[in-house]
Amino acid sequence: MKVHHPTTLDEALAAVEAGAVPLAGGTDLMVEVNFGHIRPDHVVGLRRIGELSSWEDRRIGAMVTWRTVETKGPKAYAEAARTVGSPQIRNAGTIGGNLGTASPAGDGHPFLAAVDAGVELVSRRGRRVLAWSDFFTGVKRTARQPEELITAVVLPERLPMRHAFGKVGVRNAMVIATVCAVVTRDEDGATTAAFGSVAPTPIRAPRAEEMISAEPKPTESALAEFQRLVSEEVQPITDHRSTEAYRRHAAGVLARRLLERCLR
Ligand SMILES: Cc1cc2nc3c(=O)[nH]c(=O)nc-3n(C[C@H](O)[C@H](O)[C@H](O)COP(=O)(O)OP(=O)(O)OC[C@H]3O[C@@H](n4cnc5c(N)ncnc54)[C@H](O)[C@@H]3O)c2cc1C
Repeated sequence: MKVHHPTTLDEALAAVEAGAVPLAGGTDLMVEVNFGHIRPDHVVGLRRIGELSSWEDRRIGAMVTWRTVETKGPKAYAEAARTVGSPQIRNAGTIGGNLGTASPAGDGHPFLAAVDAGVELVSRRGRRVLAWSDFFTGVKRTARQPEELITAVVLPERLPMRHAFGKVGVRNAMVIATVCAVVTRDEDGATTAAFGSVAPTPIRAPRAEEMISAEPKPTESALAEFQRLVSEEVQPITDHRSTEAYRRHAAGVLARRLLERCLR
């Protein structure tokens, strides 16, 4: 396996265009290589490209690690970062790699979906920013073209006043989510709820959002209805990690708890 070590984005893009597989922290990619699932002829390491690790205001470079998000990210994104693997994984794993893998269980995705973030992609032909909902196209599938690199996550100009992340799994640490979620609540009551591990891609729960956004001071029955709608709207499957029924139930309970946290 040949490894390129470019120091500029242009060099990296040339390598990707020639067929090299992007390598960020390697915490997903090297697992695939070690298990023999993929055998790339050449990979292009992105670590030496300074601009990919920069964080300017609402533009977060793809090579920013979970450790950095944990320490300086917006609250719910930092909460999500704190649950990614172990300290070793968080020091190596990047937000760009999480997007590159596009696992339905990726812990970074619900925050991006909840705040309507964009994903910046660059090729030698130019730059485009896709809405998160256009970026994710299926289980481990994205709209990224082979000659493109993910260069950044672009947050909206203003984040909602309150936001919270939560994750349900078989244990508290080092666990792939059975369900993960972010709920946001703004001053005017506008609420968003985004989920991972309950559909092929991260999803929002628009009916639940609309109902609870119209409640300036949600009562017990409004919270129960929000929970019910979330459980109805998610689209989980039964697999080796959990059942459809449990995931529906857990998504509703988790969303309600996160909303209650935002309302405190
Ligand atoms: C023990 C362990 C525990 C884990 N726990 C969690 C967890 O709790 N939550 C979670 O969400 N994930 C978890 N992961 C998965 C992984 O750590 C994350 O998805 C991480 O963010 C991947 O980032 P990376 O930089 O290591 O990506 P890499 O492994 O380098 O790359 C992943 C994929 O993205 C592509 N890629 C990388 N960067 C770019 C780019 N800039 N442009 C285009 N394509 C790119 C690569 O080609 C590859 O296909 C865990 C992994 C391990 C091994």
